[in-house]
Amino acid sequence: MSKVLGVIGGGQLGMMLTQASSRMSDISKVIVLDPTEGCPAAQVGAEQIQASFDDATAIKKLASLSDVITYEIESGDSYVLESLQDVAEINPSPQTLRIIQDKYTQKEFLSQNNIPAPDFAMVSLYDDIVSAASKFGYPLLLKARRGGYDGRGNYKVDSIRDIQRALDYFGDTPLMVEEFVPYVMEISVIISRNISGQIEHYPAVENIHEHNILRQTISPARISPSLADKAADIAMKTVNVLQGAGVFGIEMFLLPDDTILINEIAPRVHNSGHHTMHSAATSQFEQHIRAVSGMDLGSTKLHGPAVMYNILGPPNFTGEYMPPQISHDASHLVMYGKKISKPLRKLGHINIHDNKEYTVSQLLDILESIKPQAAISPIY
Ligand code: ADP
Repeated sequence: MSKVLGVIGGGQLGMMLTQASSRMSDISKVIVLDPTEGCPAAQVGAEQIQASFDDATAIKKLASLSDVITYEIESGDSYVLESLQDVAEINPSPQTLRIIQDKYTQKEFLSQNNIPAPDFAMVSLYDDIVSAASKFGYPLLLKARRGGYDGRGNYKVDSIRDIQRALDYFGDTPLMVEEFVPYVMEISVIISRNISGQIEHYPAVENIHEHNILRQTISPARISPSLADKAADIAMKTVNVLQGAGVFGIEMFLLPDDTILINEIAPRVHNSGHHTMHSAATSQFEQHIRAVSGMDLGSTKLHGPAVMYNILGPPNFTGEYMPPQISHDASHLVMYGKKISKPLRKLGHINIHDNKEYTVSQLLDILESIKPQAAISPIY
């Protein structure tokens, strides 16, 4: 019997989940909970409950209408979700969501399970930060425990003189501190675990950030096969102990001595897995739906290398815009239907991949040639 999939969040990730589900006979429809009228998922056929992500009444309504609930953002109320486990199946479980929602709890969980991550400590007072600095040295990264995204919840503390400024920046927000790791590359592994415990992963990818926002993903990462295996093993160990069903984006740092540390876990489809829409036997979106709705996982075999480039709103502009037009056979433009551009807002992405057996460096050359076309033109 086909199932109704409820999704907390109807942004671009919800949109691509909805598109994938429309090709899957096991899913009869998708209902998203999202505060924005005509959110991206609703534009491609999802029904929408228009309410804020943590609106308990709306989450209850979503559960009553759905067979399975999942999320495309981490801000659902895990306690409300926990109370609804008899009404709908919830994957990943609210308990897993709760561990991940708080960066400190997440790091503690990793440490308890001997999974490598940067050194960290809980801090609330000036003196706690001074004492963390005496252990880890400067620079330090002060992080909001909850709710940060695209680096907005982070503050780099370069010396004792920055501490008060950093505390003022955060106000009452609960904080943690992390050693600043001198990584040579940011990588991630998109891995999935289904309800019966089957696990599949895509090869590690390389992520390039600008202004703390993911700008570009290169698949596979330009690292040795043994390092790629090491990253996959860490991801595998993480989902084994986390126990949730779904796709997980495991972000990691690669250090100069080949150490790999986990930066953070996303309990959902992840921006660095968008290339799989065009470059893999099963996209991460189909895989997530398979994982949460009781199906077997699909093959994660790659057809070949790919480059993903995010289309971001220009830094100094808010308003309507012309969607870009890209003219290259190997490029696949995916726009998210957002009416308004905001500074550095994710408006779409381009996957560069085809079956002509391009190398990664040829794909990067193609990207350079089409970057001017990918720029957003404001409508004034
Ligand atoms: P968010 O949750 O907002 O995405 P992250 O904690 O993932 O924030 O950090 C955003 C970026 O900040 C990372 O991609 C990385 O470039 C940098 N960063 C985060 N933690 C560390 C760290 N411990 N050492 C060095 N850089 C870090």
